[in-house]
Amino acid sequence: MSTMVIDGKAATAKSGATLEIHDPATGELVDTVPQAGVEETRQAIAAADAAFRAWADLLPSKRTHLLLKGAALAREHLDEVALLLTREQGKPLRDSKIEAERFVENIEFYATLAASGAIRGHQIPLSVPGAFGLVVRRPLGVVGAIIPWNFPLTLLANKIAPALAVGNTVVAKPASTTPLSTIRLVELMNEAGLPPGVLNVVVGPGVVVGQEMIRHPKVRKIGFTGETQTGKQVMAEAASELKHVTLELGGSDPAIVCDDADLEQAAKAIAIGRFFNAGQACLAVKRVYVFDSVADQVIEKVTARARKLKVAPGTDPSAQMGPMHTASGRETIESQLKDALDRGARLLAGGSRLKGGPFDRGFFFEPTVVTDVPPEARVWKEETFGPLLPIARVKDLDEALERANDSEFGLGSSVFTRSLQRAQRAIDRLDVGYTWVNQVNLVAYDELPFGGTKHSGFGKEHGVEVLDFYTEQKSVVMGGV
Ligand code: NAD
Repeated sequence: MSTMVIDGKAATAKSGATLEIHDPATGELVDTVPQAGVEETRQAIAAADAAFRAWADLLPSKRTHLLLKGAALAREHLDEVALLLTREQGKPLRDSKIEAERFVENIEFYATLAASGAIRGHQIPLSVPGAFGLVVRRPLGVVGAIIPWNFPLTLLANKIAPALAVGNTVVAKPASTTPLSTIRLVELMNEAGLPPGVLNVVVGPGVVVGQEMIRHPKVRKIGFTGETQTGKQVMAEAASELKHVTLELGGSDPAIVCDDADLEQAAKAIAIGRFFNAGQACLAVKRVYVFDSVADQVIEKVTARARKLKVAPGTDPSAQMGPMHTASGRETIESQLKDALDRGARLLAGGSRLKGGPFDRGFFFEPTVVTDVPPEARVWKEETFGPLLPIARVKDLDEALERANDSEFGLGSSVFTRSLQRAQRAIDRLDVGYTWVNQVNLVAYDELPFGGTKHSGFGKEHGVEVLDFYTEQKSVVMGGV
């Protein structure tokens, strides 16, 4: 059995309650973990609170040193962590290795930044004789990091790396179905020398553990990634303590393909962008708008790629796409597809569960492409969190932009064109937090801030900009008349 990590030590739940973690490809039991309640959550918060002052007061170079030691030890265990991630989440092992490595790189990025002097305030000349103005940055205190199941390690690192680098302490809460790889990384970071209480992990239901983290007055900030509906609850709960929140929520990213684009490149990027992680990515391509004059070619190319994808359990080295993570996620995709087909959509690829042999035991679903989907269909309005891609024809860029923006979400977007003018217009008009030109989300850039607009949330992760969300800026006046 895996255990939680509280105050640098292995921790179980006083109630003795446990959670079973099952492999979405086979249904097999992978491991059990303790299921925390309010009591264990409070213990973790108390440990993080007790550790805060000393961690915040450490020289930045010393914090950097300890974080880099943690990253180095995690790097030695990448294969072990990646296998845990594949077994609990379902993604192909190759993708799990990339994700585990991204965790390490993200820790390294912010650890290095902490010692580089990049985490800085500023001095401001004041219009009063003898007065000297400063803005200093201070850590917030205890940070609660609440993580979903689709990219548990990337999204954990996005929060703990900047939070710890600037001197906060952290209580992390992974999703109840994907705690194993997170626990292992937190154990390794502690083993490498983080002082007890600086980084804790508790596992349990969002409505118990997550809510206690949000309500507890000692937690000064919640970094949350998850569904839009949950994000709204988090924000409402956080209001009672006027808590800082960053909300990284759902998305329905559009990709626009213009008639002057490299169509092969666009089709390849779109297929990867949609079917990566079995379509369960916030930044997946979820809607395609292609100019009518090149629509047949693009549709044919994307469909051919979808049909060729090798779907298999994530531990199969040839797997390009694994199972979906849950039975309910697959049912939602099936009902969104049925809605589209009932309204007259045309099915071009996939559309069914995979059957026979190993497929009967897991939550597999074929890479699916539909076209001629009426604008009222759910696939255009809701987030489609699985391997289902609707492609619409549009007459020009204006229509594409109008339809792309006709969504409650505003996370990412792509535009494929060789025209600088069209690219600039799309960048200017797309009401989202991220636009790729002739690309989709393949790499999470540590250097570039990331976050959504509208119902995709607010606040930034990545970049130096994230530091604004894990520090408070205090103004100081020295002297003056
Ligand atoms: P979810 O909202 O169901 O759960 C996310 C986390 O919140 C889990 O740890 C869960 O236990 C916890 N939680 C649930 N209810 C809670 C409550 N009332 N209070 C506090 N915590 C609570 O999301 P999910 O299904 O795990 O993840 C998929 C969603 O996440 C998708 O909508 C996806 O687009 C989104 N997502 C967004 C980003 C981004 O950066 N914008 C990245 C990845 C995933």
